[in-house]
Amino acid sequence: MQQRLALFDLDGTLVDRQAAYSEAVASLCRAHGFAPSIEQWLLAQLADRANTSDFAQLRAVFNLDEPATELWQEYVDLIAAAVTPRPEVLEGLAKLRAAAWTIGIATNGSADTQRAKLAATGIEDLVNGVAISGDVNVRKPDRRLFELAAARCGLNISDGGWMIGDNPAADVGGGHQAGLHTIWLRGRPWPDGLPTAHHTVDDVTDAIALLLNENPE
Ligand SMILES: [Mg+2]
Repeated sequence: MQQRLALFDLDGTLVDRQAAYSEAVASLCRAHGFAPSIEQWLLAQLADRANTSDFAQLRAVFNLDEPATELWQEYVDLIAAAVTPRPEVLEGLAKLRAAAWTIGIATNGSADTQRAKLAATGIEDLVNGVAISGDVNVRKPDRRLFELAAARCGLNISDGGWMIGDNPAADVGGGHQAGLHTIWLRGRPWPDGLPTAHHTVDDVTDAIALLLNENPE
């Protein structure tokens, strides 16, 4: 029997990182009176992920006075404040828990931003365990991040489960390699050569509904 483990990606799956990061960049630039060229640079630089090193680079490129660590901390606080989870997503996670599912987060990103987002959104309180790539220097699709997420939930990945995410290679390819069933949130182009997800949905709430209807095999 397959265990009721559901591992979720965070950005672009449980929360809308795209909207949040551009809002955070705009607020940061407004607060410091930064020129539009700086805002454009930050939007491009942080489009996929953000790290403290990006702000060291920003400071060097634009000759800024502000310490990189301060700018980074401001960005972390701003993006955490900007991610607003949809109530139905939080309700869905609570329903899964109530239905005896164990829920983990397997996310690529810096420990600072991911932890701040999980705390600010309340997702932290709804899940059993969290694995963040920035904490361990292992990124999805590496099997070890899925193993860690399961272990942080007190479970063994070899007993199976589900991975739900928006990134074809990291979430679906990685989840498949880790022996998990997968649900893909469509949106990005699907690359050649990847195994097909078990289910494809438009919204994470559809993925949660599928899991709630799932009968143990
Ligand atoms: Mg994602």
